[in-house]
Amino acid sequence: MDTPEKIVIYFRRMAKAAMQSIGYSIDWRREFTTIEPAYSKFIEWQYGILRSLDYIVKGSHPVRWCPHDRNPVEDHDILKGEDATILDFALIKFRVGDQVVPCATLRPETVFGVTNLWVNPDVNYVVARVNDETWIVSKEAYEKLTFTDRQVACGMEVSGKELIGKKATNPLTGAEVIILPASFVDPDNGSGMVMSVPAHAPFDYLALKDLYGQDLRGYGITEDLSKIQFISLIESPGYGEFPAVESVNELGVKDQDDPKAEEATKMVYRREFHNGVLKANTGQYAGLAVSKIKDILLGDFIKNGIAEIFYEFSETPVICRCGTRCVIMMVRDQWFLEYSDPEWKARVVDCLSKMRLIPEEIRVEFENKIDWLKDKACARRKGLGTHLPWDKEWLIESLGDSTIYMSYYILAKYVNVGMKIDKLPPEFFEYIFLNHGTAENAAEVTGIPLDTIKQIRSDFVYWYPVDLRTSGKDLIANHLLFFLYHHVAVFPQELWPKAMAINGFVSLEGQKMSKSKGPLLTLKQAVAENGADVTRLYILANAEYTQDVDWKNDGVAAARAQLERFYNFAREILEDKSINEGTELSLIDRWMLSRLQRRIQEATTAMENIQTRRTLQSAFYLLFNDLRWYQRRGGKNQLRRVLSAWVRLMAPFTPHVCEELWTSLGDGYVSLATWPEADPALIDEQAEQAEELLERTLNDVQEILNVTKAAPKKITLYTSPAWKQEMLRLALKTTKEGKLDMSALMKAAMANKAISLHKKDAPKYAQKLAKAAHSLGSEVLSLDEFETLSWEKAYLESALAVSVEIYSADKAGEDPKGKSRQAEPGRPAIYIE
Ligand SMILES: [Zn+2]
Repeated sequence: MDTPEKIVIYFRRMAKAAMQSIGYSIDWRREFTTIEPAYSKFIEWQYGILRSLDYIVKGSHPVRWCPHDRNPVEDHDILKGEDATILDFALIKFRVGDQVVPCATLRPETVFGVTNLWVNPDVNYVVARVNDETWIVSKEAYEKLTFTDRQVACGMEVSGKELIGKKATNPLTGAEVIILPASFVDPDNGSGMVMSVPAHAPFDYLALKDLYGQDLRGYGITEDLSKIQFISLIESPGYGEFPAVESVNELGVKDQDDPKAEEATKMVYRREFHNGVLKANTGQYAGLAVSKIKDILLGDFIKNGIAEIFYEFSETPVICRCGTRCVIMMVRDQWFLEYSDPEWKARVVDCLSKMRLIPEEIRVEFENKIDWLKDKACARRKGLGTHLPWDKEWLIESLGDSTIYMSYYILAKYVNVGMKIDKLPPEFFEYIFLNHGTAENAAEVTGIPLDTIKQIRSDFVYWYPVDLRTSGKDLIANHLLFFLYHHVAVFPQELWPKAMAINGFVSLEGQKMSKSKGPLLTLKQAVAENGADVTRLYILANAEYTQDVDWKNDGVAAARAQLERFYNFAREILEDKSINEGTELSLIDRWMLSRLQRRIQEATTAMENIQTRRTLQSAFYLLFNDLRWYQRRGGKNQLRRVLSAWVRLMAPFTPHVCEELWTSLGDGYVSLATWPEADPALIDEQAEQAEELLERTLNDVQEILNVTKAAPKKITLYTSPAWKQEMLRLALKTTKEGKLDMSALMKAAMANKAISLHKKDAPKYAQKLAKAAHSLGSEVLSLDEFETLSWEKAYLESALAVSVEIYSADKAGEDPKGKSRQAEPGRPAIYIE
């Protein structure tokens, strides 16, 4: 028979095989499952601590509940609606005669402004006994009430039509308000009745306006509804008496079916919530801020018997993975982790503030989620896992028993080779993890050899605290928060986690993957079809931080081609017998080594920030371009040296290909080789400037040739005259914050002997420099351009396939067209014959 345990064993085997196939470097000596007896012992110890701290309490709390499984539903048990939260509505008890007509609202202050109630004429309501009152609610609401801690019994049905036209009493103000028909009222939301506050709620205003002049005599309504007086109760800057009316006019909302009605609602709500203050007609609450009022009012209303709390999901439906629609259940005598405990929360906030977060922008979300986190049910009646040590009928649910498991990796290594810990007393864990007591005492009470105890403790000290936890962005609100909560509860501050990194998802050709509905590409499939290294390269080259990776077959094919080019290129280098590393470094060799150092620096910085896309940009694509230029320039002798670093840079991304190449390059495994370190001494500004000059000059010539389309007989290059270099030097001195001081420049220029000889050309060049002031740099002054180009004359001639003459504009030699006057620092003048 397939027991749940067998299913666990099966999926564990499948998952492990998939992870091995893609080449994850996992220390499998430490593997374990959370349903092993040894692990349960560890969890019992953890929960013992939480209980002793009073962080686990028994009480009645609303939980997401699957009526089919008769169990609380955790984030991982949800098929649909995983983002839904539990909202606490105020259920305001309006009365019709001696019957209660409850209306749910998230803004209890608006009870002061109710002008009428809304009931859906096409909905059937029920008269129900709720505790010792008679309520009228929708059938859906009645169903929900059965899961609360109220005593309920269902009576007869009553149609919405029968309620319309009746008068209800506002329990707060005593005002009599009429019940009116509205088709927008959803029986599955709240009680299925809605209170109407047209001064502040755009929908109510629009719905009421739609009824003006309509014949409602069928409902027994004869009065003129346009006489209903709106009641304004919130003062907020920028709004007059009736914000709902103003916002409807401002946005030009046509009627209640206009999508802009929703926008108007949000706008009013936002402004009133943040800046609104209650008006005099709210009596004792006048002057209080709307943002602070909800809990105060709710407390008072409940105390005075005019309201109750009613829980609803923030979005519906919420579906359990068994397919059943979830409800909110008030569970009595349930065990809860008291995540709302202010002292506990404060420690988590403190821990977070000291942590590094990658990316840093995610911090606000963490802070908000901590702020919002409420108590969580931590136990359930059935499933797999560990029983609560003090109440064996309950099992610790699966998000609660995987919070500090990183510390268990230390023990797993020993358990997996036969150490028995499932009968051990807490002293063992206390010593290993908290350094309570002595090794000798721990050895004595456990019977474990003293040396082993000391070794385990020293392993723990070596590994803890957690340096980095990486996880998906969907786990921020649960796994990662609980990870923090439990660490700060169990461990002293010096063992609190140091960093967390958050990653996004992988989608498939633009579609979200789904296990149940598809599309789906498993790791196993991806590796089987594309190989491990192509799969890794593609995902890592497209992933950065919390952004999702879209798996596109075209892109994967391109990644494969790039990886093949890399491999073939490397093989060619390894087989090239003519490489002589011993020769003196040429300009292009110096350039290549300099570029390599920069790529290593860039890749290292990006890796430290877990920016895989950026790392690969430098370590793979840009370095590949550099190598192409190096070869094009006739470079060769440093290829092996570059390759050795390159293969090590690529090893984390494409380990299998790199491991094979490494057998011809270095000793042992590349996975054990050290990450390359940039050597600042090899960074060669001169060489990089020289190559840039050469590349720029070649591009400039090529551009001219593309335009003239003539076959050149000869090309003459004139490098900048000395006076223009002087001028640039002075311009850099007189430029501040991208602005060049023209009069200061000209004054300095005229005092300069070299420049003063060119009185006619100098102002024009100065103008040009002023225009480019924001991008002026001193780099071009570091290079002797004439010498550089002369040195590379042979290369220029072969690259352009024509004879090339080089002059300094100061000694222009042949210059029939006066081209040398155009030469500037960094931009030689070009004359083509
Ligand atoms: Zn279920």
